[in-house]
Amino acid sequence: MSIEIRNIAKRFGNFVALDDVSLSIPTGELVALLGPSGCGKTTLLRIIAGMETADEGQVMFEGSEATHLHARERQVGFVFQHYALFRHMNVFENVAFGLRVKPRKERPSESEIRKRVMDLLSLVQLDWLADRYPTQLSGGQRQRIALARALAVEPKVLLLDEPFGALDTKVRKELRRWLRRLHDEMHISSVFVTHDQEEALEVADRVVVMNKGRIEQVGSPDEVYSNPASPFVYQFLGNVNVFHSRVHGAWAEVARDDVPAGQEAVAFIRPHDIDIDTVATPESLEAKVSYVQTIGPLVRVEVIHQGELVEVELTRERQQVLGLTAGQQVWLKPRQVKVFANGEGAV
Ligand code: ATP
Repeated sequence: MSIEIRNIAKRFGNFVALDDVSLSIPTGELVALLGPSGCGKTTLLRIIAGMETADEGQVMFEGSEATHLHARERQVGFVFQHYALFRHMNVFENVAFGLRVKPRKERPSESEIRKRVMDLLSLVQLDWLADRYPTQLSGGQRQRIALARALAVEPKVLLLDEPFGALDTKVRKELRRWLRRLHDEMHISSVFVTHDQEEALEVADRVVVMNKGRIEQVGSPDEVYSNPASPFVYQFLGNVNVFHSRVHGAWAEVARDDVPAGQEAVAFIRPHDIDIDTVATPESLEAKVSYVQTIGPLVRVEVIHQGELVEVELTRERQQVLGLTAGQQVWLKPRQVKVFANGEGAV
């Protein structure tokens, strides 16, 4: 089911939680709402769900006005961060719950319920746990059950609020792939809230980057990462070096299309977009190594250039060639610089 959000505004007292937010989500798309704590992600999700009412604007489902529909009438399924499973019900009954509480006319027969629940449990590969109780499951298993439960009522829209937030990194990664697979198999539209850039970039078809109640950018993971629309998006989506008033010399050369030379500006360079050499080349920038640390396959190097700290990320192989150590004189070669003129909302 397609979702359209038109000019939504929401205030809590004087505080503006959402400010004129519009967004179109076509059927079948998996969208991530990404942003820092307090930017309004959950509020927007709750408005889509019908658990919160907007002060202004409309929510349309499949082209029809749904703004005033009750949550129960919206055909949405939810998954929350803290697996809201019923402790006194076993896994089977937890997944069956949404079907059992349907009005009598819509309620499937007992044999249909059994079949649907067992199909969903095999889909999340946990049919062997049907008789267990939530306290006897791992965190990752509980979230898979929560997903199965949300899908049991055959929602047209799946809404997830930091669904994997409480889990450790390895399980999170596994569950992201689960979410992607289930979403694709169920042919639904899904919206999930996260403040984890990697999660949004890995799982979503489109990423909605939010800041202070507004949408900063909407795009494919590649678009928002490679072509951020604002300094905020640039900084939020990954590690970055920030240089103020530096659009001259070699930085300007690399960034030549963005801002006229001489203009006050802010330059952003990702640590992996800088190479280091031990010999000077034209347009390279002199610097001194202050710190070298190997982290898995990558090597993090901190250098000082004109009194400012610059973070560089090299591959292990590159470091094996260079053999950098603290105190060494080096030359930096920025490969890609993004420049925003001052006043473009630099943070
Ligand atoms: P987080 O990642 O921390 O959950 P979020 O982006 O989901 O953040 P929201 O939960 O949507 O943010 O909240 C947006 C802002 O609105 C926050 O500043 C929050 O304190 C405020 N807010 C949310 N719900 C209420 C409420 N019921 N009453 C008052 N203020 C609220």
